[in-house]
Amino acid sequence: MPSTCYAVIVAAGSGERMGGDMPKQYQSVGGIPILRRSVLAFLSHPLIAGVLVVINPSHRHLYDQAVEGLDVLPPVFGGATRQESSLNGLEALSARKGTSADLVMIHDAARPFVSAETITAVHGSLASHSGAIAARRVVDTLKRSAGDFIAETVNRDGLWSVATPQGFRFPEIIHAHRAAIGKALTDDAAVAELAGMKIALVPMNPENMKITSAGDMEMAEKFCSSPAAAAVCDLRVGSGFDVHRLIKGNSVRLCGVSIPHNLALEGHSDADVALHAVVDAMLGAVGAGDIGSHFPPSDPQWRGADSEIFVRHAVEIVKSRGGNINNVDVTLMCEQPRIGPHRDAMAARLADMLGISPDRASVKATTTERLGFTGRNEGIAAQASVTVIMGGKR
Ligand code: MG
Repeated sequence: MPSTCYAVIVAAGSGERMGGDMPKQYQSVGGIPILRRSVLAFLSHPLIAGVLVVINPSHRHLYDQAVEGLDVLPPVFGGATRQESSLNGLEALSARKGTSADLVMIHDAARPFVSAETITAVHGSLASHSGAIAARRVVDTLKRSAGDFIAETVNRDGLWSVATPQGFRFPEIIHAHRAAIGKALTDDAAVAELAGMKIALVPMNPENMKITSAGDMEMAEKFCSSPAAAAVCDLRVGSGFDVHRLIKGNSVRLCGVSIPHNLALEGHSDADVALHAVVDAMLGAVGAGDIGSHFPPSDPQWRGADSEIFVRHAVEIVKSRGGNINNVDVTLMCEQPRIGPHRDAMAARLADMLGISPDRASVKATTTERLGFTGRNEGIAAQASVTVIMGGKR
């Protein structure tokens, strides 16, 4: 069942428990604001269509800094209680034109280390349940206290400590939240429980801790310098460069778009110099060799091949290594043909091939002031950059 899933990240708390002037969700661990890490976990996940953050109105400037450059939905302001803040986020999604959420995951901004696997598992559980929340079975022995002393040992059978993300079928949870206005409920699952929804407990990655105290912050810093954390926000950049000679002909193919011209590009495949640069950039970002090693020019099967095949293959390699393509930027160097009229079509083709939104694909062109081989119309050069966010296996 195809379904559209949005993430609502609740960051509306004053965050003062940890001390200091900066609210905790805007403090940095490993050099990156906690909120930005939480947003990235969902933004880079292929099952999440969009991310909306619920913020405290007095934190607006901190929020803008924390999510700078990220493709998030406009934020909404939180309410007086956690429940109100969640509901505000859900109502904003519901009211958004062009947004139709089938599923929603509500996540606490103070849990920046949620893994892609946990998000995938919660999402998967929603295929058969109205709600599914990240949780961990209680393994410590539990005691109830009387003052500072043990009163009794508590049977821990069937006890879980619950976290976020908490995922729900959208129509059901917004209905439940509307019905729960004014009730003191500590999490969204409690709202869903009240409405009689059946909610699955989904084991989560152990690093999915909530940062609330200065001690948590120290642990988070330690975690950030561990190899496991390197995969949580690991941004890679790849670059590619290619040149093909111009020969007699009647069209050139650039970024998968054929442009009528009095010359053609020479090459073993369709000689789409731009796509070749993009392929090299993608492979470079994940350290997977280059186009020649995957598609040797000596192999007759690639004669006249549509370079889109190479691009799609490289996309699969990036994904298989746990990467999400974030954006692509291509610069073509030639005097002719004129690229301007075809730029948008090229960017759209690129976005489609790379599985990214059109605003993440850019095509530019420059001449070389009639200097060099490009200036003499002997060939066309292309250079490409691709960024990839590594987010573990999905
Ligand atoms: Mg080439």
